Amino acid sequence: MSAAPRSITPSPAAREFLGRRHQLFIGGQWVDPAEPATLEVLDPATEERIATVARGGPRDIDRAVAAARAAFQGEWSRIGSHQRSRLLFRLADELEAHLDLAVELEVLDNGMPRPIAHYSIAKFGCDFLRYYGGWCTKILGETIPVQPHDVPNGESLTYTRREPIGVVGAIVPWNSPLIMAVLKLAPALAAGCTVVLKPAELTPMTALLLGEIINKSGIPDGVVNIVPGYGHDAGAALAAHDGVDKIAFTGSTEVGRKILLAAAGNLKRVTLELGGKSPFIVFPDADLARVIPGAARGAFFLQGQNCMASTRLFVHDDVFEPVVEGISKLAGAFRLGPGLSPDSDLGPLISAEQRQRVMGYIADGRKSGAELVCGGDAPAGKGFFVRPTVFARTSMDMKIAREEIFGPVLCVQSFSDSDLKAVAAEANKTIYGLSGSVWTRDISVAHRMVNLIDSGQVSINCHAAVDPAIPFGGNRQSGWGREFGREGLDPYLKTKATTVMF
Ligand code: NAP
Ligand code: MG
Repeated sequence: MSAAPRSITPSPAAREFLGRRHQLFIGGQWVDPAEPATLEVLDPATEERIATVARGGPRDIDRAVAAARAAFQGEWSRIGSHQRSRLLFRLADELEAHLDLAVELEVLDNGMPRPIAHYSIAKFGCDFLRYYGGWCTKILGETIPVQPHDVPNGESLTYTRREPIGVVGAIVPWNSPLIMAVLKLAPALAAGCTVVLKPAELTPMTALLLGEIINKSGIPDGVVNIVPGYGHDAGAALAAHDGVDKIAFTGSTEVGRKILLAAAGNLKRVTLELGGKSPFIVFPDADLARVIPGAARGAFFLQGQNCMASTRLFVHDDVFEPVVEGISKLAGAFRLGPGLSPDSDLGPLISAEQRQRVMGYIADGRKSGAELVCGGDAPAGKGFFVRPTVFARTSMDMKIAREEIFGPVLCVQSFSDSDLKAVAAEANKTIYGLSGSVWTRDISVAHRMVNLIDSGQVSINCHAAVDPAIPFGGNRQSGWGREFGREGLDPYLKTKATTVMF
């Protein structure tokens, strides 16, 4: 089934970067934390320490917020939309110039296979920066053709302006670290905001590289500040900070709730990109040659550590056997190994804790009476690997089918019903509503199902299509607000209305 995990030697450039003394990035300078403290950074494929990074706490968050405020009120407020646009394009160019190093650091820190890191950074990350670079000069207000009651002689003009919301606290997870940071930075900077970024404690390396790249791109000091630290410490301080105008959070639904409570103090704005348990629904007329690889990719991309993962597969009885057999065959053939190895199709999970959590769900699935079709175990040896696992004959009263596992575990459920409402009711039976897909050649069935599924994204004959221009975000407990596209700018802007009397 899978190649035994083996260590791959990083390049001299990556070794040099990892070996540095890593500080906090505040006000355009690399600085030590107020109280000496560090994070040990592991390679999840080998369980070895790859770097030691300064760990910031609440006092460092204070300093970073002050630097972001000073930049917001200072140079950044005067710089103009054309120049902001040029700077975002330059940032994308610098990221491209550092691509090999960024990819290698991401793979070593997170464990993802190199082609995924390469694609996500080279294509998606750079496109995302340029997409929002284009928006800087297109943020428009409106003129409003009304005659306010208190303007006596009928000669007036009312217009609105969209202003940057101010200082943004960005808190991101470990599953795609650099991209998660870029998703927050690009619209925030395009809107004219400044940012304090707290990367995930498990994966700070590419955020630190980003600090360097930001300095090289010419973005003024203090516009972006980066403070690695613990969520309950630095993250909580950022979420509660009175000097922060908005929190942009991606992470678990559980922490999302804490962010909301912390934000209540100064009523700062909050957007939340949270968990998911997305349905993938296969009707009997679907093209199985596309369904089978699509379902395997949808479930096991990033080892299932992906908020949009299609972890609930609903398959019509007529095609249930060939679909489950096809996916299990693909899943069983995936080679597990370190992300830098060209022989690896899937990497490790992020941590020992995450592996234990996933194995707990697998044990629960076995007990609940679901049929284990493939996987179900963790290979012996170093690295936090778990084999891709498929459970058939699951139902929505099982914990494995209801809760987000965030690991390579696919639950398959059959349906025989031609009542689309009944199928959709099963698909909607979780607290989440992030992504989803419908697979059929019948356009009426497809569009009816799109109407019935309560998710921020429902695709037809593909799953989790992403592009900087396509709005993305969750319904119900998958989140608040949308990222990407024009809508993704809105949370970073506030409207000011002005009436002029002639
Ligand atoms: P997490 O535990 O919620 O952590 C996310 C971030 O929040 C980390 O930086 C974390 O710091 C920080 N944090 C933790 N407690 C905090 C607190 N009390 N106050 C402020 N910040 C705090 O999530 P995760 O385990 O890293 O990531 C997995 C989750 O993210 C999954 O549920 C997944 O679905 C979700 N996710 C959603 C999307 C989306 O776009 N909807 C995308 C990717 C992932 P530490 O690193 O120190 O814990
Ligand atoms: Mg790591």
